[in-house]
Amino acid sequence: MFVLKLEDRPEIAFIAEETLGKLAKWLRILGFDTIFEPQLPGAGFSAFKSTARVCLTKTVQRYERFGSQNIILITSDRPSEQLQQVVTDLNIGPPDIHLFSRCTQCNLPTIALHKSDVLGQVPDYIWQTHNTFHGCRQCGHIFWAGSHFVHAQKIIKKLFECK
Ligand SMILES: [Zn+2]
Repeated sequence: MFVLKLEDRPEIAFIAEETLGKLAKWLRILGFDTIFEPQLPGAGFSAFKSTARVCLTKTVQRYERFGSQNIILITSDRPSEQLQQVVTDLNIGPPDIHLFSRCTQCNLPTIALHKSDVLGQVPDYIWQTHNTFHGCRQCGHIFWAGSHFVHAQKIIKKLFECK
């Protein structure tokens, strides 16, 4: 059975416009609640103007329409530099990061799974060599601390060295 793991969730949340898909994915990997514009049901980007969600845009007109409030104008085309800008502008630190605590596809918090629950659902060698698994209730994707996790940790280390 699924067991919900109660953890502190970061309070900073985002909405990213459609040009910022890779940045949105990275923010989710870091554990931030990030709505990606093409996945928005109904209400448009501008509906978030006066919410607690930080809006991320590359469009100057959009930025100006918001009156520069609650919105970050992303200046770089490179996802790594975009992420660096968000981290710097919001003074995000390592305690705010909860790596792979959120599904990168659905944006929902992942839940801790017992090793016995994922038997047969992940490759055998993964099951034999890992003890910690998380899953998404919506899409069913199972996450474990594999090579992508190590890669993400390296990127995060670099992110905070530059500050
Ligand atoms: Zn999912």
